[in-house]
Amino acid sequence: MRDKHFVPGFTPRSGTYTVKKKQDGRFSRHNMVNEILSEMACSPAGALLGSVTSQISAIHLTQEGQETSSSSSASPLEEFLVVDRQHAGQHCDMQVDGEEELLDDLETLCSDDDDSSSINDTMASASVTSLTLHSGIEESVGEEDLQERPALVPSLFPLIPPTLYFGTAEEKVNLLPAEQMKLLKWKMSTITPKIVKATLARSNFKVTQTGDDWLGFWGHCMKTCGFKTVRKYQKVNHYPGIFQIGRKDRLCRNLSRMRARCGRQEFNFFPRSFILPQDIKQLRKAWEDSSPRQKWIIKPPASARGEGIQVVYKWSQVPRKRALLVQEYLQKPYLINGSKFDLRIYVYVTSYDPLRIYIFTDGLVRFASCKYSSSVKTLHNRFIHLTNFSVNKHNCGYKANGDSQGCQEHKWALKALWRYLGSKGINTSLLWEKIKDIVIKTIIASEPYVNSLLKMNVSSNYSCHELLGFDIILDEKLKPWLLEVNVSPSLNSSTGLDVSVKGQMVRDLLNLAGFLLPQKEDMAAPSSAHRGNKEKSKPDVSANEKDKQVFYLTQRSTDQDILPTVLDVLTPGDIRVLAQSEDEMNRRGQFERIFPSPVSSRYLRFFECRRYFNILLDQWEQKYWANRTKGISLLTALCQSGAHQGTGDLSPMWNKNRMMSTVQPHTHRQEHRQVNCPCDEDSDSHWEVTLDPSPNASPGLGSSSSSISCASP
Ligand code: ADP
Repeated sequence: MRDKHFVPGFTPRSGTYTVKKKQDGRFSRHNMVNEILSEMACSPAGALLGSVTSQISAIHLTQEGQETSSSSSASPLEEFLVVDRQHAGQHCDMQVDGEEELLDDLETLCSDDDDSSSINDTMASASVTSLTLHSGIEESVGEEDLQERPALVPSLFPLIPPTLYFGTAEEKVNLLPAEQMKLLKWKMSTITPKIVKATLARSNFKVTQTGDDWLGFWGHCMKTCGFKTVRKYQKVNHYPGIFQIGRKDRLCRNLSRMRARCGRQEFNFFPRSFILPQDIKQLRKAWEDSSPRQKWIIKPPASARGEGIQVVYKWSQVPRKRALLVQEYLQKPYLINGSKFDLRIYVYVTSYDPLRIYIFTDGLVRFASCKYSSSVKTLHNRFIHLTNFSVNKHNCGYKANGDSQGCQEHKWALKALWRYLGSKGINTSLLWEKIKDIVIKTIIASEPYVNSLLKMNVSSNYSCHELLGFDIILDEKLKPWLLEVNVSPSLNSSTGLDVSVKGQMVRDLLNLAGFLLPQKEDMAAPSSAHRGNKEKSKPDVSANEKDKQVFYLTQRSTDQDILPTVLDVLTPGDIRVLAQSEDEMNRRGQFERIFPSPVSSRYLRFFECRRYFNILLDQWEQKYWANRTKGISLLTALCQSGAHQGTGDLSPMWNKNRMMSTVQPHTHRQEHRQVNCPCDEDSDSHWEVTLDPSPNASPGLGSSSSSISCASP
């Protein structure tokens, strides 16, 4: 029995992992590349997976946020894949037909995979070197010049398993012993980006088309029930419920909710928006109250790549009945060389509970290909008002930089933008801080939905991770505004610049993800879909650990006497979570961790549900961020003694009375909060508290007397 924070591939008391290097001629990365090539030949990029229509009709919601499907819950993963995005030029709105609510978590949305005619597509029949070169990272390097790297990255801590290593184009990742090589299987999807495939190829993964003993999958988001088929040693690149921020209308609703709960000041980074047809009256009023020169931008709620987007200024231009998002148009954007631009920021969430968010330190800057004008006569010109690559590439004047240094053409590296703005005396560090603030708050807005669905549908927190593309625009005062969050941001690479930014990002991401080699018993265990809900594994949390969690969840979040004591006695579960977090930090590459961080305590009040491990990690960061070595030494000693496995002398019991005797009695006031049991009897390894900081909190979300299941959408 394991808790959600259990590390798959690692059995308590199983001893140290030995990382042996053994060359085995049967497995070479050529195997993988050949399979990729044949797969590419069979499945042209952008091929549709199938129609979603029949699947939509098969979905019924038994209660809000919980869906059942008429398809067998034990179906293979592929069956759960929902519609692929449409081909370029085709309309890709979700068919809602007034039943939008029912499709809440169906999660059918176009990816912004916009540059489908990239140079990579021309490489389907090329050699190994070409595939690596074109989907990968740097210039071609001869086999003999490759630097050898071990296939596994050891943990910082004893008795914790290593993770798989993903190398650059200049590296050759050593082969594992034959038994372990057999485990390196990846489930391919027709939309797995080539840059991902090439990175996997370098780590000696093989493609599996049919088997379900794969370790990783990179494709479209599944219907929520599809997550039940994922085994605890497998990782898929999405979270259930992520479309609560990944669809424009849901993002708007959730940020409005956060604004109402936590204050306009804190959530004032999303342009004022209205969802039609529901909000037509409010839009009318806002329209009448605003300046006659105000322009509005109309967006289909579940589209991408600029499709269906229009800038309007007359009320008669607003469609009344169609599902749409109408948003205030930011008509004074910050311009460079007279052109409008937006930023593509890559954000990676390795875990929702505890929440761990990373931001890639590079990104892309996309320029409109015609000089900006706010005259109404230009509003129809998409090359002026939209910055999407997929729109502007059709302008014959469009030019992208070939490398990451340039700042002349229509696509720059984010780092080039920082250099440019820095040269104008702009405080780019402050700007970056504001962008990080937007990212953290937006992810927190999705947190109750994602965690609730994770608990109901996913047997291990290990199984989900997600790369998101945040689109940010700067206004003339350099205030960043969030335009949208892309689930499945484009990883296609049409230029050297794309290859350099995205190649590095994907490699760092896969290392950060921490792929583990599964243990035999993990592979033998059935998925929760096969087990059925009743038999879902119970969390392995001792009564003592539960007592500790409940105690800290019921303290005032401002109580600076009590909260730091959470680190005084670390339970086995605490140690595992802290060690995992430190290991992750150590593998971050060019990602920066933005949550938890030394300042993350300021964000804890935005959470609708307090979560114990967020408190623990927050306190850990405050205590050890300036001296990580000290924290790592402490965890090393604990792991060495087996304390993370619940064995050894260094695993003392947490004791409330002993803890209370160490703090000033008058400072300890227990807050009267409802402590909820986990949302259902088999759901979680720890406890949580539902908070309701505002009297205006929306019913059903954050109401303090309801259980965690009420925090579901
Ligand atoms: P899509 O998912 O189709 O790319 P976006 O919301 O990102 O939709 O909008 C497309 C483009 O339109 C953006 O890249 C940006 O250039 C422009 N845009 C979107 N919203 C606004 C806005 N509120 N004000 C100004 N420009 C906007």
